[in-house]
Amino acid sequence: MRIFKYSILKLVCFLIFNYSRGMIFIEIVSQLTKPTQVSDLKNQIIALQAISENLEPSEAERNTYIEKVNAYTNKFINTIDSVNAFSGEPEAPNVFAITNQKKTIDEILELYADEIATKGINAASGGHLGYIPGGGIYTAALADYLADITNEYTGMYFSCPGGVAIEYELLNWMKSIFNFPKSAIGNLTSGGSIATLIALTAARDKHGIKNAKIEKSVIYVSPQVHHCINKALRIIGLEDVIIRHVELDSYSRISTNDLQSKIEKDKAEGLFPFLVIASAGTTDTGAVDPLQTIGELAASHNLWYHIDGAYGGFFILTEGKKDKFKGIELADSLVIDPHKGLFLPYGLGAVLVKDKEAVYHSNHYRASYMQDATGDDNIPFNPADVSPELTKPFRSLRLWLPLQLHGAEPFIACLEEKLLLTQYFREELVKIGFEIGPEPDLSVSYFWYPLKQGDENNFNDELMQEIHNDGEIFLSSTKIKSKFVIRMAILSFRTKMETIDRAIAMIDKSRKKVENN
Ligand SMILES: *Cc1c(COP(=O)(O)O)cnc(C)c1O
Repeated sequence: MRIFKYSILKLVCFLIFNYSRGMIFIEIVSQLTKPTQVSDLKNQIIALQAISENLEPSEAERNTYIEKVNAYTNKFINTIDSVNAFSGEPEAPNVFAITNQKKTIDEILELYADEIATKGINAASGGHLGYIPGGGIYTAALADYLADITNEYTGMYFSCPGGVAIEYELLNWMKSIFNFPKSAIGNLTSGGSIATLIALTAARDKHGIKNAKIEKSVIYVSPQVHHCINKALRIIGLEDVIIRHVELDSYSRISTNDLQSKIEKDKAEGLFPFLVIASAGTTDTGAVDPLQTIGELAASHNLWYHIDGAYGGFFILTEGKKDKFKGIELADSLVIDPHKGLFLPYGLGAVLVKDKEAVYHSNHYRASYMQDATGDDNIPFNPADVSPELTKPFRSLRLWLPLQLHGAEPFIACLEEKLLLTQYFREELVKIGFEIGPEPDLSVSYFWYPLKQGDENNFNDELMQEIHNDGEIFLSSTKIKSKFVIRMAILSFRTKMETIDRAIAMIDKSRKKVENN
């Protein structure tokens, strides 16, 4: 019995001894093979962490930052009506250089105020009546703030089901506004140009426009069509298609007689017409092309029908103008821009397309590293399958949140108000001696100062420059049949009757100044 006990003790001692020798052996080997010691590695990580932690401000710091940004943005909004809408002054040299010198939030906000917010076009100002304004409603910024903090990834349903569901809700809402079928698909893009790219790529693929076919393929557009169409055609390899500029009537709308005869002639000559583009509000003059008749022509000739409603589309929501949009539902693809007609800050366009397969052809792709995220091929589709974008910010929230907070009514009232302000502006211009373009379809119009003698184009060009020098209100110009005219585009939610009164006073003052030069 004792011997037995002794043997066990010897065995245990033997095992422990050999185990510890083994451990020492392993330790020696690992010391020899590893370049750094474990404790060194940890120390390095800890040292880096002390620096990288700066990217996660403390709650106290977050509060300081947000209070200061809030104070600045409040002041910006509170004083916006007394600040010029335009300054031609460039930014000061080198103020934005990236150096090793850090800045405080106060310094950054000061730089922002001096060098960014007060130079160029003040796009948030109601006095922005140039190009196509929108304003940028405050509550959309709150949505961006939330979306940026939680950093939702909305390219894939898998990664943010709720965020993608909101995108679908908004697209469905737009389908119902424009009488598109539920089966249409769509995408919320960064703007109208990318939305156009998606639409025209679908048109190209639906009609198989490639290789030798390109040079015989024909597209029909208004000469006033937005240049994002030309850019998109070049990007998607259709630079060499034949582009027919259709004649316009006196309201700058596409002449459907001319369109019809051009299509028929091209067909008779063995060419391949495949796409017609109409505008629901051109940038130049706000003209709404005869959407219904063009749609019927497109259908009878088997052309893809694209409508650019980036500027004007949402005026369909108004009582006064909804009839002008009859036929918009005939489009195969439609582009609309909530950062114009729904007054959002820049960064939200939309495209609706009826033919899902045509869109998928270029944008739907399965990579093996996405296998967890892609799931069922059909329902719900991923936004990344409809767009060149994969990683996508949660941009639907910036429209959804304001619509939920305010309801749709103020948006529609704002659009109605813009239409009446356009009428008011035109009447006041006539009172101070200007001539005005034809009754506008929507809220873009143009005017010029008539001269009894002298170069009228030159005078109005100088007047435009004088208006830019003044800067209180911002207007831009264009040429209508080689006539220099000044445009007014009333679409900012901050443009009010008082803004128009200030614009009239400023235009009158500028005109007198040019006359006395
Ligand atoms: C603004 C505009 C576009 C281009 O849209 P972005 O959002 O600027 O990319 C296209 N068509 C029309 C009629 C527009 O007014």
